[in-house]
Amino acid sequence: MKLTVDQDKCCGAGACVLSAPEVFDQRDEDGIVTLLTPEPGSEHHAAVREAAAMCPTAAIGVRESG
Ligand code: SF4
Repeated sequence: MKLTVDQDKCCGAGACVLSAPEVFDQRDEDGIVTLLTPEPGSEHHAAVREAAAMCPTAAIGVRESG
């Protein structure tokens, strides 16, 4: 699984960080998403899919592999 985040779309809602705090973080200054783990291990996949589905601006891109 490979992830991208679009910081121009992100509105800083933080839903992704609540779902997968080891994968996503938010910038201190404005709450915009940052990616901690671009290729998360399988133990994070369910949480990452949930985060992408919950993101109100569809800023999280998930590319499944294998
Ligand atoms: S859920 Fe979406 S809009 Fe909210 S912080 Fe994460 S990427 Fe940004």
